[in-house]
Amino acid sequence: MSYERAKEILSELVSFPTIPTTQTKDIADYVTNLLNEMGVESVQVGNDETNQYNVYATLGPDIDGGVALSGHFDVVVADPTDWTVDPFKLDERDGKLYARGSVDMKGFLALTLSQFEELAKRKDKLKKPLHIAFTYDEEFGSFGAKVLSKHIDQLEKKPAIMIVGEPTEMKPIISHKAGFEMETIIKGHACHSSVPRNGVNAIVYASKLIEYMEQLNKEFASNPHEGSPFDPPYTTMNVGHIKGGEASNVLAAECRFDWEFRPMPDDDGHAILQRVKDYAANVLEPEMQKTFPDTGIEFIVHADVLPLKIEEKSSALELVSNLWGANDSDVVAFGTDAGYFQQCGISTVVFGPGSITQAHKPDEYISVADFKQGVDFMNSLGEWACS
Ligand SMILES: [Zn+2]
Repeated sequence: MSYERAKEILSELVSFPTIPTTQTKDIADYVTNLLNEMGVESVQVGNDETNQYNVYATLGPDIDGGVALSGHFDVVVADPTDWTVDPFKLDERDGKLYARGSVDMKGFLALTLSQFEELAKRKDKLKKPLHIAFTYDEEFGSFGAKVLSKHIDQLEKKPAIMIVGEPTEMKPIISHKAGFEMETIIKGHACHSSVPRNGVNAIVYASKLIEYMEQLNKEFASNPHEGSPFDPPYTTMNVGHIKGGEASNVLAAECRFDWEFRPMPDDDGHAILQRVKDYAANVLEPEMQKTFPDTGIEFIVHADVLPLKIEEKSSALELVSNLWGANDSDVVAFGTDAGYFQQCGISTVVFGPGSITQAHKPDEYISVADFKQGVDFMNSLGEWACS
């Protein structure tokens, strides 16, 4: 496959402003059309209400196994006033390809598609199938992967290996933590502060709950997972935003806070969440509701992303290491779609060109050199599939 063609496809892909929760039908249709032109059958799996679609396709022999290449359609927001170039138009300057999503991760999508185009011309030569597994809403909480992995799990013939092409600087990533995005709403009862018995202060109960979460943080930190490659080697929890109350002389009717926690791959995130909920239900709410039964604490899970667990014997790691000559692997601090595919029994690795440090900020780019590494990798994967 050629660098030029991959770049051409990249420039098409970045022109779709697929910021979180926007519809991805247009970009999915673009990919479907491209695959149709190649004579590759594909299917869109998604959500008709929000108009968001994953794309799944298979090229090569109709047999079990093979390798799937995964990436997400969505990108993080881009405020054009912070950019020196148009975020949704590919711009090449000083050996760099600028655009929102260039490195995270439409670059990988473009590499995959141009390699498919190349291999489709000689598909009789393919001994092992290659698959496309493109998702929506990864940045917001892997909502597309949740749907697509269910579809793949039900297939009669499914891939044996999944490569999630997030920017890892071509280093195989074998594990990451889980991630929960949470919101908690404390409903108190307002009254004038001169007679506090006439109300329940939501801010006070928010602070009690947050204090309990800090106790959990201390408990996690004092029980690190021995020998774990993670830094830090324990589950972490953070309250990042809080809002509540009206004035200093009013007991707050409401307080809400946003928080997240990142369970270690082997920790049970739902059990941790249950501990927080139990504390609210068994300790705080009875106290609040003694005088005002309409008060209480509500938890909203905005996102709950699976971890990528270390596999005992990873055929995905073995393949990538053989093809790329990488002889070490690592873990990362960010979440991906990978855990959903791994859950279907597919050996999964995160591996792709460019660096995550170039993502999620103004003037996002992938360097031409890194993009060409991706071309080289796709070419060796193509040779492997034909061998
Ligand atoms: Zn990404």
